[in-house]
Amino acid sequence: MIVTIDGPAGTGKSTAARGLASRLGFEFLDTGAMYRVVAMVCLEENVDPQDAEGASRIAQRVKIDFEGDRTFVDGQDVSDDIRTSPVTSAASQVAQHSGVRDALVEQQRILAAGRDTVSEGRDQGTVVFPDAGCKFFLTADPIERAKRRHLELNERGESVDIDALLREQQARDERDLRRVIAPLKPADDAITIDTTGMDPDQVLDVLEEHCRQ
Ligand code: C5P
Repeated sequence: MIVTIDGPAGTGKSTAARGLASRLGFEFLDTGAMYRVVAMVCLEENVDPQDAEGASRIAQRVKIDFEGDRTFVDGQDVSDDIRTSPVTSAASQVAQHSGVRDALVEQQRILAAGRDTVSEGRDQGTVVFPDAGCKFFLTADPIERAKRRHLELNERGESVDIDALLREQQARDERDLRRVIAPLKPADDAITIDTTGMDPDQVLDVLEEHCRQ
């Protein structure tokens, strides 16, 4: 069985997907990490994230693996390197290229094949797993989303101005919503949950209840 959780950044998707996978005894697939890997390699190799061909070649070449919460590229642990602000911004740029998306969608289906999985991203319910047994779309107030990201970055030792974060978040949202291929939107059969003002356990309880119905 596949459960999909889509929605914009900062809506609590990752925490919810991880927690739900643990409660249900499923695997957890963080597809955003895969776009981040492609972005990180682009920046390392001086490939412009806007360069569709260059970014697509990287997406076809890199071998991405997950072990628990850690992300590996060609055997190297890159879990922290893919969370920096430059990589975050470049990830939503590489995600616009069809060559990048095709390569990563194929890898996502392979990673989930034959395994009960909670898969989290932007297009999991609409494109990657249209037949998923349970689909969720999380939303939240933009200011609360930026505050959550601010807290997360502070915990990582990165101090970023909240207004700058809001601007970056808006730019990312626009790229995700307006892109031609797989734009961010809820699947027709997704359950939409507004997580504004909810704590992570409350979100988890709602998701788990729906999955067990
Ligand atoms: O979820 P996360 O913030 O880690 O994702 C990084 C970027 O990757 C997003 O801003 C989005 O543009 C892109 N993405 C995507 N499709 C997915 C997952 C992430 O386009 N399934």
